[in-house]
Parts: sequence; C-alpha cells; structure tokens
Amino acid sequence: MKFDKDLVIERAMVIYAHPDDAEFGVAGTVAKWAKAGVEVTYCMVTNGASGSQDPDMTREKLRDTRYDEQRKAAKILGVKHVVFLGYEDGYLYPTLEVRKDVARQVRIHKPDVIIAMDPRFRVADEGYINHPDHIAAGEVALRTINPDASTRQMFPELWRDEKLEPHKPKALFLETFGEGGTVVDISQTMDTKIKALLVHKSQLGPEAAGFIRDWNKRTGKSAGYKFGESYKVIRLDREPAAETKPRRRARPAGAASRGGARARRSVPRTSRPRAAGARAAKRSGARARRSR
Ligand SMILES: [Zn+2]
Repeated sequence: MKFDKDLVIERAMVIYAHPDDAEFGVAGTVAKWAKAGVEVTYCMVTNGASGSQDPDMTREKLRDTRYDEQRKAAKILGVKHVVFLGYEDGYLYPTLEVRKDVARQVRIHKPDVIIAMDPRFRVADEGYINHPDHIAAGEVALRTINPDASTRQMFPELWRDEKLEPHKPKALFLETFGEGGTVVDISQTMDTKIKALLVHKSQLGPEAAGFIRDWNKRTGKSAGYKFGESYKVIRLDREPAAETKPRRRARPAGAASRGGARARRSVPRTSRPRAAGARAAKRSGARARRSR
C-alpha cells in the first residue's frame, strides 16, 4: 500500500500495552491498511489482567477473557498476527527483558511502520493521568527502533542464536490524541473500528461507540474527513541532514520569522491537552465501572 509518494507499507506492527488500546486509538487506520493488503501484527505487551474491580474476578480469568477479546477484535480488523508478550498488566517497566522481547518480534515480522503511543503523554488537563503501562510500552517502542531491533550488537543473541537479523522500520506513527499532525482518513472503516472496540466487553459498554465516533469526527474535521485518526509521523528512512538543512535555511531571517515559527507551533500545543483530555475523560468515564 502506498501511504504517500515515497512511503510504501507492506507490513505494520502495532505495539501497545493492553488488549483494547489499539481499538480505542488506531483501529480505523489498522482496518484501512489491512483492507489495502498490509500485513498487520499486533504486539500486546501486557496481559490485561488488572482491568477489573469485580471482587470475584481473578487475574488468570481476566487475562484469558482479554486475550480472547483482543483476538476477536483483531480478526474483525483484518489483523494477521496477534502476539501477546504476557507481561503483568499494571506492572510494566521498559526493562531489558521487555525490550528484548519486543525487538525479537520486530525482527521476526519486519514491519515497515510501527504504530505506538507517545510516551511523552503523561497527564491531561481534564483529570486524566495516562496509564504507566502505556508510557512504558511507548518507551519500549521508541527504544526498539533505536537501538534494540535495528542494531546488530544489541541483544546479539537474537541474531547469533535465533538467526534474527536487525531490522529498522521506515517510519514510526505515534498516536497524537487528535492534536493535529498527519490525519488518516478512516471514514470507510469507522464502523469496523466501533465493531472491534465493542468486542472488549469486559472493559466497556455500547456507550463507548458515541464518544469514540465524536472524537474521530473532531480529528477528521481538521483535515476535511468525516472521521480521522491522527499521528506524528517520524520518517526513519531519510537522511537526517537532508531534513534539517532546509529548515535551518528557512528560519534565520530575524525576529519576525522566528516569531512566526513560534506562533505556528502554538496551535497544536494549545489544542493538545484539550483533545487528549476529552478523550481521556471519556475513556475513564466509560471505564468507571471497571476502573481502568
Ligand atoms: Zn490501556
């Protein structure tokens, strides 16, 4: 699939902490790409076993339920492989062990694109603290690009013992919580996203459909689409020097142009907490019954 004039995507890997994270955030894109022939792999780092306030629930039972929900959702979206690394939900740190496990999957599946959550997102204005597992999984995704999956002498046992060659993706797509960036038109796959999201019955009810639709509507609007999901796209297949040179040339013309640059940047910065907060508040509202 051709994403733009010079980014061809044949394989994509979605690295998230919990079963359901991808359905909330990026499933419209996943369904769209899968439909266009992209081989999508889910790499779910934790087992989802903390996602319940029910005193009669056990971690083992919930883990099985959540794996089952995630497999069903992935099937609806056309995801080809679902990998569960099985780390305990709520206990995740970007340890060397986690990093090696993720790097192994990247080297096996060789994605052109990795989709992940931005680990810099910590708090939103509207009363939401981002889950630490999300931050840890995002951190691992960044570290897998540089250096874990791409460097031969990182975890050398991966190529020495397991014959897994280093792999560097062409691009990283970081979910941006609707603050702008590159918007993917998901108008044709919005319904599929909702269908996949609602499979996570242990985590949410049908009311989730409304706010996810609203959120993706707001995101899409900025780009002229009915529904959209937005990303900060980091290209990894271009020489950094070629990128920075024109920017340096464009900027130096004194105070006016620097002010202009600041003014342009301030637009996404001011809108970011609102967008993230709205999503987060609604997410936590939907999950209030189950607490996550
Ligand atoms: Zn989560």
